[in-house]
Amino acid sequence: MSILLRLDAVSKSYAHRPAVAAVSFEVHAGESVALVGESGSGKSTLARLALGLVRPDAGTVRFEGRDPARLRARADRDVRARLQFVPQHPRGSLNPALRSGEAVGFALRAHGVPRRERADRTAELFRRVGLAPELARRFPRELSGGQLQRVAVARALATGPALVVCDEPTSALDRDTRERLLDLLTELRERTGTAYLFVSHDLAAVARFAHRTLVLRSGRVVEEGRTDRLWTAPEHPYTRALLDASGPHVTLRTPASATGPNDQNEEPR
Ligand code: ADP
Ligand code: MG
Repeated sequence: MSILLRLDAVSKSYAHRPAVAAVSFEVHAGESVALVGESGSGKSTLARLALGLVRPDAGTVRFEGRDPARLRARADRDVRARLQFVPQHPRGSLNPALRSGEAVGFALRAHGVPRRERADRTAELFRRVGLAPELARRFPRELSGGQLQRVAVARALATGPALVVCDEPTSALDRDTRERLLDLLTELRERTGTAYLFVSHDLAAVARFAHRTLVLRSGRVVEEGRTDRLWTAPEHPYTRALLDASGPHVTLRTPASATGPNDQNEEPR
């Protein structure tokens, strides 16, 4: 499979304190890779490095062979469209002056979808993420956290991305909405081959969604591997501690394409 995203020995410090230290990994087309680790372990910084929103102090980031921090607004519009972001706090990332449907419509316009098609496509995206179409007329301040998160997902999907970086996409959602969102992301992955970099401390969501998982601690990868292997036979004590702390509700349901039929529905360890 072709490599979409490659980070090579990437480091980033804030005020001389390393947030990410010499991290390397790849995401292949159609693959879902999770970043897990406790708060402050560098997950969001890595997500922002992958998107080119933060520049590394050392090392290289390549998306489809390009440095995402150097993509130009117009000339590289098509590359940008293929690399999308669902941020951890969508309220801060949505323009408060735009109705939620307009936010999605802008993304469609930027992707070159003609005006006459945008309303239909927006309605279809709203339907797919489980939002009532009339919510398209509301402003961000009139929507709940869970609704905003789904608007952010609809906006990210609008451009037909090859890779979506999701930072804690299920954190603001109740259980049912979370399940629906994971179903949606899974369906999209199966239908269009979208890849994901999936940042989460929700290990139940990771177990269900990610083919591969990287475990971060203090900005370093302490363990990585297929999610099913990590869950059934963690090698690093830190991984074991994370699994223990997440409690018995984490049951292994790794995606079918990443695991054999015998690996399904096993208890962790
Ligand atoms: P996580 O998403 O795993 O909780 P972060 O990547 O947000 O971790 O943070 C990793 C470390 O980097 C933390 O110590 C955090 O305080 C620090 N950090 C992250 N972003 C900034 C920033 N913009 N300015 C200063 N320190 C930051
Ligand atoms: Mg974070």
